[in-house]
Amino acid sequence: MTKAVRVRFAPSPTGFPHVGNIRTALFNWLFARHYGGSFIVRIEDTDVTRKVKGAVEAILDGLRWLGLDWNGGPYIQSQRLELYQEVANWLVSHGDAYYCYCSPQRLKEMRAEQVRRKQPPGYDRRCRNLSQKERAEREAEGITPVVRFKTPLGGQTRFNDLIWGEVAFENDTIDDFVLLKSDGYPTYHLANVVDDHLMEITHVLRAEEWLSSTPRHLLLYQALGFKPPQFAHLPMILGADRAKLSKRHGAVSVTEYREQGYLPEAMVNFLALLGWSLDDKTEIIPRQELISNFSLERVSRTAAVFNRDKLDWMNGVYIRSLSVEDFTQRALPFLDRGLPPEVKRPLSIGYVRQIMPLIQERARTLAEVAELAQFFFVDQLDYAPGLLIAKGIDRKSAAQALAAAKQRLERLEAFGAESLEAVLRPLAAELGLKAGQLFGVLRVAVTGRTAAPPLFQTMSVLGKERCLRRIEEALDRLHKGGI
Ligand code: GLU
Repeated sequence: MTKAVRVRFAPSPTGFPHVGNIRTALFNWLFARHYGGSFIVRIEDTDVTRKVKGAVEAILDGLRWLGLDWNGGPYIQSQRLELYQEVANWLVSHGDAYYCYCSPQRLKEMRAEQVRRKQPPGYDRRCRNLSQKERAEREAEGITPVVRFKTPLGGQTRFNDLIWGEVAFENDTIDDFVLLKSDGYPTYHLANVVDDHLMEITHVLRAEEWLSSTPRHLLLYQALGFKPPQFAHLPMILGADRAKLSKRHGAVSVTEYREQGYLPEAMVNFLALLGWSLDDKTEIIPRQELISNFSLERVSRTAAVFNRDKLDWMNGVYIRSLSVEDFTQRALPFLDRGLPPEVKRPLSIGYVRQIMPLIQERARTLAEVAELAQFFFVDQLDYAPGLLIAKGIDRKSAAQALAAAKQRLERLEAFGAESLEAVLRPLAAELGLKAGQLFGVLRVAVTGRTAAPPLFQTMSVLGKERCLRRIEEALDRLHKGGI
């Protein structure tokens, strides 16, 4: 590439940034970083009616969280209105655009009529050739016009999309679209083209849904005498049911993924694979490798499928790759927030540090940490006593096993995992139980669950006093019966 790459992420703050928006941002960012170019952020807030409060902050927050740093902006289109007005008026004075005085009421009726006649929708060009006199009359009525583009009648607009290849649109299918609204705000088309030109954007990487807007943009570039950027339209993202990704697939705001305990590095890796691949098989590709390998050649035209299970799996892989200390630091706020209120705060960091290596192996999200580690913190375990009766044994032998274990453990000085195993493994044989049966009873007694981190390490972290108390409580439960 000869010219330095300059790309942009141009979200409209009409909602909170979802997976699709951020995938677009990421592909632009990767493209810029791969070619040593610039990545610019531009807020396209020209639709006043659809602006959502807090959306801009959420978008920038999401970019920061994922480490998608930008080199220019955020530029805000609503702060640049004069620029677009100037361009719109220039187009009018050069005969490439015109003032349209049609009232919303008239446009509504026109549309209804088109529907009735099964005609394609679009402005019927009534104001395209108004005489000087007709215009003056409408002005005298005090009507504020919109500015419409004079789309060429006939011919084709063609371009070479970097992902879709040669694309052609018949100009007849494009109506005289609005450039400047009566409130003085530009439409998306006008502002987008003007800014891409002024910001010297070399490549426009955006969602496939904008493919059909591209001929409009190219006609505008042509009328303005600007050289257009190159276009690359990224494939759609579908939910697992192959419907376009939406809220109902959990395609919630990207910052919600942070709250649910996904790691930004996992999220980046996951999003990169929504439409791009390294070699059709490698899944775990850390950020630096994404940057060095990213290319549009490997962006697919086939819609990408958003698979939540894959994200969970990938997040687990990234969680396990963290150092214990890093994991602990990241998990701590989730633990603090997720543990029941009766657990004393602040949490003892020394105790947390002992627990975290056991949890790190199992957690798929940071939010899960609180649930997985809860039994380490609460005073009272809550489980069905029937769980204490391991497969193949009865209540009596479960109680005997617990009583015998309690006795041995009381005498044990060092409560490390190895000494625990050295005492408990032979005990199973003495009791005529399989090791798994004894350990199963003990696991439920000390954790309240049938699945937990390795038993001896868990007991060691819980400590002698807690373990003994829990075994006694388990014995109580067994004796009380009611199973
Ligand atoms: N503002 C448009 C959006 O929200 C940008 C489309 C484009 O990148 O041109 O997706």
